[in-house]
Amino acid sequence: AWQRVKRRLRAELGEDVFASWFARLELQDVSGGVARLTVPTRFLKSWIESHYLDRVLATFRSEADGIESLEVGVRGAMAPARPGAAAVQKPAASPRPVASPGPAAEMPEPERAARGPAPEGDLGGAPLDARLTFESFVVGRSNALAHAAAERVARHDGGPALYNPLYFHAGVGLGKTHLLHGIGHAVKNAGRRVIYLTADRFMYGFVNALKTQSALAFKEKLRAIDVLILDDVQFIQGRSIQAEFGHTLNALIDAGRQVVVAADRPPTELEALDERVRSRLAGGLVVEIGTLDEALRASILQSRLEAVRASHPAFEVGPAVAEYVAKAITANGRDLEGAVNRLLAHATLTGAPVTLDTAETAIRDLVKNREPKRVKIEDIQKLVASRYNVSRSDILSERRTAAVVKPRQIAMYLSKVLTLRSLPEIGRRFGGRDHTTVLHAVRKIEKAIGEDTALCDEVELLKRMLQD
Ligand code: ADP
Ligand code: MG
Repeated sequence: AWQRVKRRLRAELGEDVFASWFARLELQDVSGGVARLTVPTRFLKSWIESHYLDRVLATFRSEADGIESLEVGVRGAMAPARPGAAAVQKPAASPRPVASPGPAAEMPEPERAARGPAPEGDLGGAPLDARLTFESFVVGRSNALAHAAAERVARHDGGPALYNPLYFHAGVGLGKTHLLHGIGHAVKNAGRRVIYLTADRFMYGFVNALKTQSALAFKEKLRAIDVLILDDVQFIQGRSIQAEFGHTLNALIDAGRQVVVAADRPPTELEALDERVRSRLAGGLVVEIGTLDEALRASILQSRLEAVRASHPAFEVGPAVAEYVAKAITANGRDLEGAVNRLLAHATLTGAPVTLDTAETAIRDLVKNREPKRVKIEDIQKLVASRYNVSRSDILSERRTAAVVKPRQIAMYLSKVLTLRSLPEIGRRFGGRDHTTVLHAVRKIEKAIGEDTALCDEVELLKRMLQD
């Protein structure tokens, strides 16, 4: 039935409107008369809700019995940012009454609203998120080039644009939108005219302009600016919209105006766009932002924690917990931010300091499926002890004979590389040793592995045995 609903919407509303708003509308489930639909962005959700809900409902009802209402949700990567549902585990376990109305109120992200839909009907462009500036952008190996290009473009004044277009691509949560907003702020502060648009808004502006027969005004407005920033262009679709996108791109670039674009893939892989538009997009500077390495994750996390602490002075996250989070959340910046929100929610709801254990619980769902297998320090100690014919208590003991020191060091090394535990934590689990002792062991084994192939094989074997 859902496929029929979509077909009818397509036939009744026309290809462009359909492609712009409904192509990515999916049916999640139907229960108790409520059909739950999902879309990938909040903007789409609000646009569909405010313009097409009745229509979709009517069509759905005529195709399927028993549908009474519709609900539109946002699917995918945005989930962690949504308060409610998974944001807090067991707030009921809170030992103290909670004064606030709920976790939503504790989420330190009112700024998020700035990315939601703007009420105005014309092409004002989306507001820039005050938090996403160059100052708050942490530079690391994987984004240094993108950051440098962004700064150059933003600070450039007079003369034809430098790299046109400047095109960023990266997976979700790696800082594209942050950089684009950073450019937007800098250009604006320099007194130049800038418009930041997501693909959704671009399509919205265009479809709307067509409807009100003001497409010309729409184009003129777009072309009367110094810098046009377009986010998530992988979502641009629909024949006349992409043609319009192509014209806008050409007109701006030919006039020497700067265009900055971001997408989740390189220009060559934007299948929904035609060849000419793709090659125009590829004709400037194309920069990929790589995944965040651990050092970068740690810095982003620190800066995020500091930002949150500004409004929640009592919120303390110790170095061991921070290290754990930076190690565990490998996917992207959005999950790191989600993790900070979880920790904050836990801390405020329980009133207890954030320990490793709480952190582990709080961020579990952000971590799961990302580690191959969780290895326990105890298992490492047992296995290594039995391979080297010593006992586990020997490994934990103070004994310093070579027969015990070597397996102990190997076990410490394996604990470091196979678990997410910090050095101090590992030290504690090895009979209360100091973290410098663990560090020494890790370095020593690392070095030995590099020099001794037999040892290298041996350690590799131990790793496999522990991970299977
Ligand atoms: P994308 O647009 O690539 O999906 P975003 O720019 O929305 O990613 O980044 C997701 C989150 O991670 C944002 O809160 C952003 O501020 C943060 N983030 C990503 N990269 C960095 C960075 N290098 N420095 C600071 N914050 C970052
Ligand atoms: Mg983005």
